[in-house]
Amino acid sequence: MDKLQIVYVVCGVMALLLLIWLRSLSVKRPDKMAGGISLGKKIAKCGHKTKIKGKITAFGQTTITKMPVNKDGSVDYCLDCIGKMAIRCAWCKEPIFIGDIITLYSPRDKDKFTLPENAVIYNEERMSVVGCGRTTCADTGADYAGSWIPDENGKGKVHRRPTMIEQSMANLTEGGNGVIIQNH
Ligand SMILES: [Zn+2]
Ligand SMILES: [Zn+2]
Repeated sequence: MDKLQIVYVVCGVMALLLLIWLRSLSVKRPDKMAGGISLGKKIAKCGHKTKIKGKITAFGQTTITKMPVNKDGSVDYCLDCIGKMAIRCAWCKEPIFIGDIITLYSPRDKDKFTLPENAVIYNEERMSVVGCGRTTCADTGADYAGSWIPDENGKGKVHRRPTMIEQSMANLTEGGNGVIIQNH
């Protein structure tokens, strides 16, 4: 080996060491910078680590849900806590998960109606109960009255949205022709 060859070998080894060092740096860095985030998981405000998208299970049924992410990148609840906020439809007893659309019917014969376990009464006076939006359960899309969302106490609640009939009535009382345009 002449001098030139030795120089090549030394340079080669040093370049290799430099590469290994750079790699080890770039591997460590994301952990340090991520804070609460690691491996695609976040710490939700409920205190649990969670994925943004994943399975939730309630009453023997599983669904895939995607967490709403706040403007600052935080999430309010983990998938487990969201799963625990699910209730049963007052009519078909199937689960109503957070984010699901709901109906607010009243039973025709209030005396004969028994509320299933884990179902929710919306209005005691009118005896309207929270039902699911399944096509096999709600009569028509016109009855969709809102959605099931988390409340401040870590439980589910009704997020009211006027039904098409209510929107139509409001339009009439405001002097319109009762025709409303549904854009979602
Ligand atoms: Zn949680
Ligand atoms: Zn139902």
